[in-house]
Amino acid sequence: MRRRRERLILGISLAAFAGVATMFASLLWYLQRESLSAEERLVGGLAATLGADAEAMILDTRQLLMEFEQLTEPRCSPEHLQRLQQAAIGRKYIRAIGHWRATDRQCGVGFLQAQALRPARADRIYDSGVIAWWPSPQTQVGDVQLFLMRYGDHDVAIDPRDLLDVGPLQQRQAGLWVEGLPFVQFPRDAELPAPRTVPIGLTLDRVRGVAVSRFSREGELAIDIVAIEPLDSFWGRYARSLAVGSGIGLLLLGGFVYGLVRYTRYRLSMGTLLRKAVARGRVRAMYQPVVDLRSRKCVGAEALARWKMDGGDTVPPDEFIPIAEREGLMPEITLAVLSNPLKELRPLLTQEQRLSINLNVSPEDLKAEQFVQTLAERLAASGLPERSIKLEITERALVNTDLARSMIRRLRERGHEVAVDDFGTGFSSLSYLSTFELDWLKIDKSFVDAIGTGAATSHVIVHVIEMARSLGLRTVAEGVETEEQVQWLIEHGVDLGQGFYFSRPLTAEQFTEYVSVKGVA
Ligand code: C2E
Ligand code: CA
Ligand code: CA
Repeated sequence: MRRRRERLILGISLAAFAGVATMFASLLWYLQRESLSAEERLVGGLAATLGADAEAMILDTRQLLMEFEQLTEPRCSPEHLQRLQQAAIGRKYIRAIGHWRATDRQCGVGFLQAQALRPARADRIYDSGVIAWWPSPQTQVGDVQLFLMRYGDHDVAIDPRDLLDVGPLQQRQAGLWVEGLPFVQFPRDAELPAPRTVPIGLTLDRVRGVAVSRFSREGELAIDIVAIEPLDSFWGRYARSLAVGSGIGLLLLGGFVYGLVRYTRYRLSMGTLLRKAVARGRVRAMYQPVVDLRSRKCVGAEALARWKMDGGDTVPPDEFIPIAEREGLMPEITLAVLSNPLKELRPLLTQEQRLSINLNVSPEDLKAEQFVQTLAERLAASGLPERSIKLEITERALVNTDLARSMIRRLRERGHEVAVDDFGTGFSSLSYLSTFELDWLKIDKSFVDAIGTGAATSHVIVHVIEMARSLGLRTVAEGVETEEQVQWLIEHGVDLGQGFYFSRPLTAEQFTEYVSVKGVA
C-alpha cells in the first residue's frame, strides 16, 4: 500500500514536472521564434539607412554647389560670405566652403584661407561638371582627411566621418565605398569585407551572431555601404523575462509539491488518528436489525462500524474503511467492532439464544490464519456461543484464495454461519460460488432497488434468488425500503430482510428495545 502511494506521488510529481517543462519549452520556442523575426525586422536596415543618408548628403552638396553658382552677390563680398556661412552652419558634415579662381582659393568660410587645401589632381571629374577629391593625405587637415567636391568656382569640404553616422551602438561596423573605393569606415580599424563579396540586402550569420547588410546605389556617385551588426543575443534580450517566468514556474511547482506533501501527511495523519481511535475504543458498532420477512420479527442485527471522533462527529465507514485498508488496520477494526456486541449485547444474546449478530469480515482477516483462533478466544472470554456471531464475507474477499476457502470451512465447523455479502456486485459465477461452503446469500441493495422498476437488474435478482436456492443458501435482502419490495421478496421466497423500512442502524440500547417490541423470530 505504502509503495503504491509512493509510486503515485512520484508519478504525479513527474507529471507536474513534465507539464511545467513542456510549458517552458513551448514558451522558449515561442520567444525564440518571435525574437528571430523581430531581429530580422530590426537589423538589416542599417546599411540601407546609412546608404540613404550618405546619398542624400552628397546630392544635397551637389545641389548647394549648383546654387552657389547662381548667387548674384559679388564674390568674396560680406554678403557672399554670409550666404556660404548660412549654408555651412546648418550642415554638420560641411567643414568649409570656398570660392576659387582657377587653382587659388579666394575666400570662404570654415578653415582659414591660409590653410586652404590645394590638392594636386582631382580624383574624378563628372559629366555634370562636378570635380571630386577622395579623402587622402593630400586632403588632410589636422587628423581628418576631407572629401572635397567642387563645381564651378565653389568647393565644399566634407568630413567623411559624418557621411557614415553609425550611431551610438557599440559593436556596429560599417564602411562607405564611393565608386568602389574605400571612403570611410567605422570604427577605423574595422575589417569589413569588400562590397562585391557581400550580397545586396540582408544576410543573417547566426554562427557568428551577426547581420551583414549591403546597400548599393549606382548614380553619379556610386555608393556602397557594408554594415555589420551583432544580432541581439536571444538570451540577453529575454534573460529577465525568462528569469521571472522560471521563478514563478518554480514557485508554482514548489507550491504544488508542497500541497501534495501536505495532503499525503494529512492522509497519513488520518491513518494515525484512526489507529489511535481503534486503540482507544472509539470505533463503535451500530446494529441494524435483520427481520424475518413474513413474521416481521427480529432474527438479529448487522454490526456496522462507526468512528466516533473526539469532537463528537461520526465518520461513516465508507470514509474510514479505505484508510484502514491502506494502513493495514482492517483486522484491528474487525476485532474492535466485534468487541462491542460481545460486551453491550451480551445480556440480550444470552437471554435470546436465537438472536445473532452479523460481523463484517474483511479480506485481510481471511488472509491471516490466526483470525479463527482470535475470534474463538474473544467468544470464549465473553461466554457467548459461536452461533451468536454470523460472518459476512464480501464477494470480493472470495476471489481465488484456497486459504479463504479453508478458513470458511473452519469457521463453519466451529459453529458460525457464513454469509456472502454484496453478492452480484463482483464477478463471481454460480459455479465459482459453489466451491465455497456458505449459509447465506445477501442480495445487494442495488438489486432490491430495482424491484418493480422494470430495469435490467430487476430480472437479475430473480436469477440470484434461484441461484442461491440451487446452492442451498438462504437469502437476506439488503436495503429494503418499501412494503412493495417486502411483498415481492416474500413472493419470490426470500427469507430475511434488512433496511431502513424496518429500521436504521441502532445503538445497543435502542436495538434491545427494538427486539423487545418486535419480538424474536
Ligand atoms: P454493507 O455491509 O453492505 O452494509 C450495509 C450498508 O447499507 C450500511 O451502510 C447500512 O447503513 C446501509 N443500509 C442498510 N439499509 C439501508 C437502506 O434501506 N437504504 C440505504 N440507502 N442504505 C441502507 P454503512 O453502515 O454506511 O456501511 C457501509 C459499508 O461499510 C458496509 O456495507 C460495509 O461494506 C462497510 N462496513 C461497515 N461496517 C463494517 C465493518 O465493521 N467491517 C467491515 N469490514 N466493513 C464494514
Ligand atoms: Ca455487510
Ligand atoms: Ca452488503
